[in-house]
Amino acid sequence: MGKKRRGRDRLMTCVSCGRAVPRDKAVDYERRSSFTTDFRDKENVTAFSSNVEYYCISCAKHRKIFEKKKKQAERRRERREGRF
Ligand SMILES: [Zn+2]
Repeated sequence: MGKKRRGRDRLMTCVSCGRAVPRDKAVDYERRSSFTTDFRDKENVTAFSSNVEYYCISCAKHRKIFEKKKKQAERRRERREGRF
């Protein structure tokens, strides 16, 4: 066996600056959007779509993605604990 290689470095494209970032250095941010469909025969049909966007680290810092991610995690935790 020769040198250890970390597989293939998948390159993601930063949605902000367009730079190619290795997958393990890219910051993924899940953006959820909900929209209602126009079907009238069904009750309000709400569809959720989640888009995962990738940012390079400097853009993530600049756009405060880290803070957003933290807030998302907190919100998720709150929901799991279930405050009624
Ligand atoms: Zn960037």
